[in-house]
Amino acid sequence: MAVERTFSILKPDATERNLTGAINAMIEKAGLRIVAQKRVQITKAQAEQFYGVHKARPFFGELVEFMISAPVVVQVLEGEGAIAKYREVMGATDPAKADANTIRKVHAKSIGENSVHGSDSAENAAIEMGQFFAGNEIVG
Ligand code: ATP
Ligand code: MG
Repeated sequence: MAVERTFSILKPDATERNLTGAINAMIEKAGLRIVAQKRVQITKAQAEQFYGVHKARPFFGELVEFMISAPVVVQVLEGEGAIAKYREVMGATDPAKADANTIRKVHAKSIGENSVHGSDSAENAAIEMGQFFAGNEIVG
């Protein structure tokens, strides 16, 4: 499998509870390298664009308000099969359904406030990294 990069967000419920270090430890233990990272307050427009695919869903408004409720940490992760591997490390969207020892099982508060985002495809990873990082901010 090829070395890939994926885009990650440590969401407001994680930053508010000082879980950045604990979650990063789980990421690194899984063999993913953090090759870019910064703490940002995202705007409403950025959140609406980022989750635009869910615009018609009943939880969209709540999701946007949550994502702007506190700073987040945006990251680029690198490793063998990083996109699928990070989705595995994150666990299912609903922490009640997530496998043991996944980030969401261990840390998420609910299906909405679920601590982390990870890209779901190579195409979306490239788009999402480009939304938050300049090329020279990613040091592999
Ligand atoms: P993400 O895109 O954040 O990595 P995901 O791919 O596991 O998560 P999606 O189906 O893309 O899940 O949903 C995007 C986000 O919307 C979820 O991570 C969660 O924060 C929120 N969400 C999804 N389903 C619900 C729901 N039923 N109620 C409230 N919030 C939800
Ligand atoms: Mg998703």
